[in-house]
Amino acid sequence: MDATYYQLDMLKTLNEKLKNSDRINRAFLKISGHAYCYYNYNMDCFEAAGDWQSLCGLQIRYLSDLDLLSDYVAQEDTDTLISILNAEKSGQEMVIGTVGLREGSIQLEMIAYVNYSLTGSPIEKFILIQDISRVDKKKKELEYLAYFDTLTGLCNRNYFVNKLQEYIDKAAAMNTSVSLAMLDIDGFKRVNDSIGLILGDELIQDVGVFLKEFENENITVGRFGADVFNIAIFDPGGMNSMEHIFSRLSRRLKRPFILSNGDEITITMSCGVAEYPEGGDSSFVVIKNAEIAMFRAKETNRGGIAFFDQDMLDEFLKTISIEHRLKDAIETNSFVLYYQPQFDSMTGALRGAEALIRWRDYDGTIISPADFIPVAEKSGAIIAIGNWVLKEAISTLSSWKRQFNFDGIISVNLSALQLKKDDLDSRILKLLSDYNVEPKNLELEITESVFIDDYKEVIEKLRVIKDAGIRISLDDFGTGFSSLSYLRELPIDTLKIDKSFVDSLTNDETTGIITESIIKMVKQLGMKTVAEGVENESQYEWLRNIECDTIQGYLLGKPMPAIDFEGLLYKNMSNELEKENRQNEKKRTFIIPAEFPDDF
Ligand code: C2E
Ligand code: CA
Ligand code: CA
Repeated sequence: MDATYYQLDMLKTLNEKLKNSDRINRAFLKISGHAYCYYNYNMDCFEAAGDWQSLCGLQIRYLSDLDLLSDYVAQEDTDTLISILNAEKSGQEMVIGTVGLREGSIQLEMIAYVNYSLTGSPIEKFILIQDISRVDKKKKELEYLAYFDTLTGLCNRNYFVNKLQEYIDKAAAMNTSVSLAMLDIDGFKRVNDSIGLILGDELIQDVGVFLKEFENENITVGRFGADVFNIAIFDPGGMNSMEHIFSRLSRRLKRPFILSNGDEITITMSCGVAEYPEGGDSSFVVIKNAEIAMFRAKETNRGGIAFFDQDMLDEFLKTISIEHRLKDAIETNSFVLYYQPQFDSMTGALRGAEALIRWRDYDGTIISPADFIPVAEKSGAIIAIGNWVLKEAISTLSSWKRQFNFDGIISVNLSALQLKKDDLDSRILKLLSDYNVEPKNLELEITESVFIDDYKEVIEKLRVIKDAGIRISLDDFGTGFSSLSYLRELPIDTLKIDKSFVDSLTNDETTGIITESIIKMVKQLGMKTVAEGVENESQYEWLRNIECDTIQGYLLGKPMPAIDFEGLLYKNMSNELEKENRQNEKKRTFIIPAEFPDDF
């Protein structure tokens, strides 16, 4: 009795377990999105499971009666369905083209597996049905993500590089060329900061939509990064030339893009172009060179187009090499300051010197600042270099004061980037106090470019420096936007007339008149004037006649190492002493005879 109860309990538990596992299996089948059926030949029993309803629009109960199928499935599909259900071969596969049971069409794949006995008669059959259009869709989605940019619908970097290589291979076979443009929105970061990321994306989208219009079987447009677009043209020429496309683009860019919030944004784009075969023999090289050309366009022709050539590459490589070597030039003590003397135009007295940096490379060659200062400004290395220059110039001032009683002025060139640093004034004042140098002996040379970005802020900063007693000089006057009217607002003590003016003073009447009026006006504003690049006597004469205060140039002295300049200082000190002695003597000879009787 007990044993029977026990067995019943066991069976009940087993039954529960089986029910539960059956429920789980059915749930799995449902989630899998597949449909299955099973047929046992010996017992003539048919079982079906899975999602027949959503795959074929069939309820499982109709499956056991194949005749009923025709009421539910279109004739040709029914035949296929029936033939696979009747499959006798193991691994038999069949794809039903379309099943017209539901809206839209899906592609079903059916696979039959049949088990055979040793005598070769079938025992049981398993059939799997799955929706392969869903797999296909997923595959297409993945492909899209892999090859296309979701924001603009243009092809992405991967796809573009492959397409460009395809064009190049085709061009190599057909002996023609491929043109590649890299386009970058100028100042996009600033635009993005002002309108926000979402509207920034909208702008990118609008640009992308416009660029997509250029696409045809020989033109591919891609988006490379945030605001960088690329256009590849197979066999460029005529309407399919980069010049033509860029001029159409430029015309479009003259009109603003209107964003969803009503904002109107006008942008420019800089474009660099490289061509296969001259500009590289593979997609990667051509892209790299187009990028170099794009950077060149940004620098020299912002909003315009630049074409890659060998000179551009050489210059680029030189810049890279300078940038690389600049990194440790300070630690290796590779910089020196040269000093170019400045003289009073009337008396010929030494006013002081302009400190000009030189870079002595490891092999002893001297590299001109004209070559490395612009690179240092771009890389930011100018801050460290500028600090070194300030310290060197101020310590030199200090030692010249001690050795030669020098009370003149050293002018130091300041880069715009240095002025942007908050600690500039405190740094200079600390150096002056550390080296016991008076502010009046230091002059800072700035150029008009420092005012471009933040005019007011720069003026404030300069005023603090000037109020501390340091002189400010405006360098290269005449080469920038040089408006005379704004000179009044600037806190400057000295104006340096650029060499280009000095060069043509004596042989071009207009330059002469302009220079003379600048000097006269500036004098009235209480400023001093320095003429730089004075190379001959007639220029000197001319400048002295119009009362330019100071003369600097090869005529009176080239930039020289400190040790050579000390020769000048020594001579200067001797002259001063001599002058003082003469004056003292004069005083003596004047005083003595007048005060005393003849017989003294
Ligand atoms: P700059 O400030 O206009 O300096 C004057 C340049 O003209 C110097 O070239 C000088 O050697 C040259 N020069 C002076 N007199 C004559 C002349 O009679 N004839 C000719 N043909 N040239 C003359 P340098 O030393 O090669 O300096 C070039 C530029 O490099 C400077 O132009 C300045 O912008 C920059 N630079 C030099 N040193 C520094 C520095 O310490 N810091 C910064 N930020 N820039 C510097
Ligand atoms: Ca200068
Ligand atoms: Ca200058």
